[in-house]
Amino acid sequence: MECWTCERPSQGVCSFCGRGVCKEHHQTMPNLVALFEAKDHVKKGIVVDNALFCGECQPREEPVVLEGLE
Ligand SMILES: [Zn+2]
Ligand SMILES: [Zn+2]
Repeated sequence: MECWTCERPSQGVCSFCGRGVCKEHHQTMPNLVALFEAKDHVKKGIVVDNALFCGECQPREEPVVLEGLE
């Protein structure tokens, strides 16, 4: 795969959209990988800091409600 920005070989893949990114053009962002409800009914998330981010895609800050996916 090639870097989305410079088209040279990529060293990684954006955690959010799958675009290839090289060491020069990558960015990092916390990535929420899982959500669960703890025993005390508090919703908690597993967040990975410094996840690879291509800088092109735009992860939304707020979760989106998906209707019809029961
Ligand atoms: Zn690049
Ligand atoms: Zn991306």
